[in-house]
Amino acid sequence: MSETELTAWGRDVRAALCPVCDWTYLLPAAARLPRCPHCFGAELEPVAEEVMQLPYVSPPELVLPFEVRPEELSQQVLRFAEGIPYPPEDLNPQALQSRLQPVYLPAWLVDVDAVAHWQAEVGFDYEVLSHQEQYSDAGSWRSREVKETRIRWEPRVGRLQRHYDNLPAPALERAAELMRDLGSYRVETARPYASNVVEHGLVRLPDRLADDAWRDAEPLLHAAAADECRQAARAEHVRDFRWAPQLQGRHWTLLLQPLYTTFYHDDAGQPQPVLIHGQTGKLSGVRRASLKRAQRIALILGGIAAAILLLSLIALVASVVLPPLALVGAIGIVLGIILGGAALIPLVRVWAFNRKPVSGGS
Ligand SMILES: [Zn+2]
Repeated sequence: MSETELTAWGRDVRAALCPVCDWTYLLPAAARLPRCPHCFGAELEPVAEEVMQLPYVSPPELVLPFEVRPEELSQQVLRFAEGIPYPPEDLNPQALQSRLQPVYLPAWLVDVDAVAHWQAEVGFDYEVLSHQEQYSDAGSWRSREVKETRIRWEPRVGRLQRHYDNLPAPALERAAELMRDLGSYRVETARPYASNVVEHGLVRLPDRLADDAWRDAEPLLHAAAADECRQAARAEHVRDFRWAPQLQGRHWTLLLQPLYTTFYHDDAGQPQPVLIHGQTGKLSGVRRASLKRAQRIALILGGIAAAILLLSLIALVASVVLPPLALVGAIGIVLGIILGGAALIPLVRVWAFNRKPVSGGS
C-alpha cells in the first residue's frame, strides 16, 4: 500500500473495525464512527494501525451505482415480511427505510500483461445441404431441403502478447455466500470511481489477499485468451486451448458494489440486520416471528375461553333449578375447550417458524 494508492481515494480516509463481526471499513477521516452497518451490534472502532499499513487497501477504480428505487424497496420489504407468522411490529417498510445505510462491497479487479505461445483447435461452422423425403397428406412424396450446421476443427498455434484489463475476482471470504443470498451484480453500469463515493457510503475493505484471489482470476484470463485466439483465427469455436503464459505487471484495484443495510428490532429489542442488493433490491436477512404478538393473541383467545367455561359452569350449577340450562352449559364447556386449544396455535406457529434454520432471502 503506497501513498499514491491512498490518495487515489481522493479524500482523507481512515479505517474502522466492528468489534462484533470483524468487518472493516474505510470512511472519510472526518466522519463520525457509526454503528456497524453489517451486524448493527456495536459502534465501529478506529483501526489501531495506520491505514497505510493495512494490506487490503487498494485504490478504487470502478463503482456500480445504487439503482433500486424507494417504492421497489417497500415492496421487497413487504414481500420479505410476508409468510412470517406475526412479524415483529418493527419489521415494516417505513422503519427499515429510515435506517438505510449505503455500503460498498469490494471486488478485486486485476490487470496483467501476458506473453505466451499457445495451441488450440479452432472450429468453423459450415452448412450441409441434404434432402428429406416426406409423405404429405395429399398422398404424395415431397422432397424437402434441410440445412444442417456442422463444425470443421483445425489445429492452430501462435504467439500472443497482450494486456488484460479488469479481470474480476472475489475480495471477500464470504463473497460466495453473500452473492448466493443477494444475487450477483451486473457490471455494465460501472463508472469510474469519484471521490464523493466515500462520502456517500462506507466502503467495506477486502479480507481476502490479492494473491489468494488470483486463483479465481486465472480461469477468466485463460478463457479471455482462448477467445482472442478464436477471434484471431476468425473461427466460431475454440477448444483444447493450451498456453503457459509469462505474466507481468499484475495491478490490483477495486470495484465497489452497492449494498444497503438496515435492521429491525426483534422481540428482545435486538437489531436483526437486513442486507439489500443495491441494484435489484433483493433482501437477505433473518426472518423472526414475534412471540410477543402471538402471546397477546393467545391471551385474548384464552381469556374468552375462560369466560365461556366460567359461564358454562354457572349454567350447569343453575340447571339444578332450571334443567334446560344443562344443555347450554354442556355446549359452552365444549366450546370453551376448543377455543382454549385454539389459543395455543399462534404460540406453536411462532415457535415452529423461529426454529427453522437462520437464513433468509425474499
Ligand atoms: Zn459488525
